[in-house]
Amino acid sequence: MIAGSAIKTFDFFLQWHLTERCNLRCRHCYQGGIAPYEMTPEEVKHEIDGATEMFQAWEAGYDVKVAPSIHFTGGEPFLYEGLWDVVAYAREQGYTVAIMTNGCLITAEDAQRASLLGISDVQVSLEGQEGIHDSIRGKGSFAAAAKGVATLVEAGNRVHANVTLSRLNVDFIEETTEVAKIIGCHGIGFSRVVPCGRGKALVESLLSPQELRHTYQKIISLDSPAYEVNSGDPLTGTLVDADTPVEDDLTLSGCSAGFSGVTITSDGTVMPCRRIGLVAGNLKSKPLRAIWASSDLLWQLRKKESYHGKCGRCPHWPSCRGCRAVAYAYSVAQGEPDLFADDPQCWVVEETA
Ligand code: SF4
Ligand code: SF4
Repeated sequence: MIAGSAIKTFDFFLQWHLTERCNLRCRHCYQGGIAPYEMTPEEVKHEIDGATEMFQAWEAGYDVKVAPSIHFTGGEPFLYEGLWDVVAYAREQGYTVAIMTNGCLITAEDAQRASLLGISDVQVSLEGQEGIHDSIRGKGSFAAAAKGVATLVEAGNRVHANVTLSRLNVDFIEETTEVAKIIGCHGIGFSRVVPCGRGKALVESLLSPQELRHTYQKIISLDSPAYEVNSGDPLTGTLVDADTPVEDDLTLSGCSAGFSGVTITSDGTVMPCRRIGLVAGNLKSKPLRAIWASSDLLWQLRKKESYHGKCGRCPHWPSCRGCRAVAYAYSVAQGEPDLFADDPQCWVVEETA
């Protein structure tokens, strides 16, 4: 099932949206306002078992060691009543577990539990200084998130800030990094806004390819052994020396969609990425292992020949493939939906056009 890959130790994550409910209404949110069924904690545990079986089958059938992790999120995961029940179960089954939250609802008891259960990382959303953060996430949300970070750190947790980059906050990278340090975060990561869901309105204000390139160069320059500043965006690989372009059709790294991670939503829907929003199957009708093995959507994402635009001819394809969610959302906004279109913010595309 990992026959599209050329690597031997396989880091694989499940991004698990336990609920679509949220206490905030952020301007860039990928949610469209639907509130589907929420699996009970017992159902979630059953599906964790299904994922474990899939990883065990991969290890038995292929010459590979799987390092699985689960990122529990929402909506806002702290609104899911069974959060600690399913976290404890996932830890018992040997998963590395992270939580992705807006940070506003965290109590001292939550922070203690996270620490005792060995949560590897709590990722708290941050948009910048208080004024910018509140203008995107709502009044009072900065103070609440900063308090949440302090509570988590006090209990011994590792906390990372995560910034969604858009024209609203891109001019304040250094300042936002300082804010993350001041409120106690151990590092900061940046990712691009995807113009889907409530964020659709931001399609006209996407950064240009060159603006994005300069932004990522700045982010890379701020990283140091003393303080981690990074971006998981596939395009950043093209800026570092280690990414030697190779002519190959096997995925090595880059966009995780269809390759090294999968999204499960609160009702068991399986998607290549929450921000792509296209459906590969549902756990109610098929186990995860079968969906991963048989979904046409997931297979297309793994095959170089699916990529219509310049990505399909690009030497960075094995380690990049652009952000499929941005490419798809942009094509939808242009009235020509195409999951395999060029990433509109890729500077490599622009330079080789
Ligand atoms: S063309 Fe596609 S694969 Fe190549 S660098 Fe750009 S986004 Fe990445
Ligand atoms: S589509 Fe974009 S957001 Fe989703 S996994 Fe790929 S790079 Fe990340």
